[in-house]
Amino acid sequence: MNKAIFLDRDGVLINNLHQYYIWKSDQLEFVEGVFENLQLLQKKGFQLFIVSNQGGIARGLYSIDDVLKLHHELIATFRKNHIVITEILFCPHHNDKEKCLCRKPEPLMIEKLIAKYNLKKNESVMIGDNESDMEAATRAGIAGIKILPNKNMFPFITTLLQ
Ligand SMILES: [Mg+2]
Ligand SMILES: [Zn+2]
Repeated sequence: MNKAIFLDRDGVLINNLHQYYIWKSDQLEFVEGVFENLQLLQKKGFQLFIVSNQGGIARGLYSIDDVLKLHHELIATFRKNHIVITEILFCPHHNDKEKCLCRKPEPLMIEKLIAKYNLKKNESVMIGDNESDMEAATRAGIAGIKILPNKNMFPFITTLLQ
């Protein structure tokens, strides 16, 4: 099983409609259909990864530890719903503060995971709600599916479920 889905986090898995930056567990509100959709993708043999820009760290709004703690909880909640997230990568930088090679649209987070898990590029897909997610996918040499922010992704992923 060497094909993967790379998921953006905010606006795709977690609802960020009310607050742009998410770092506390009481802000954890899952987008409609997320558990069912990820279960279906998993059944199709995709490994699941999350790749997320967390520029709020560089901006001093929250810490790397806050994000790690939240991701612990995220992974546990998914696990309770029979979903395995293989790994989460996030970029703690922001262009306002320092330029880096990982912040999407840079493809580095995706490229690292492709290398580490020996993933097939032609069968892997990035799902995001932002143009920068799509650009990162293209630059990493994989397909991208752009969904509507904070909406059930199901209508957009049907081609992956055939
Ligand atoms: Mg997003
Ligand atoms: Zn970065």
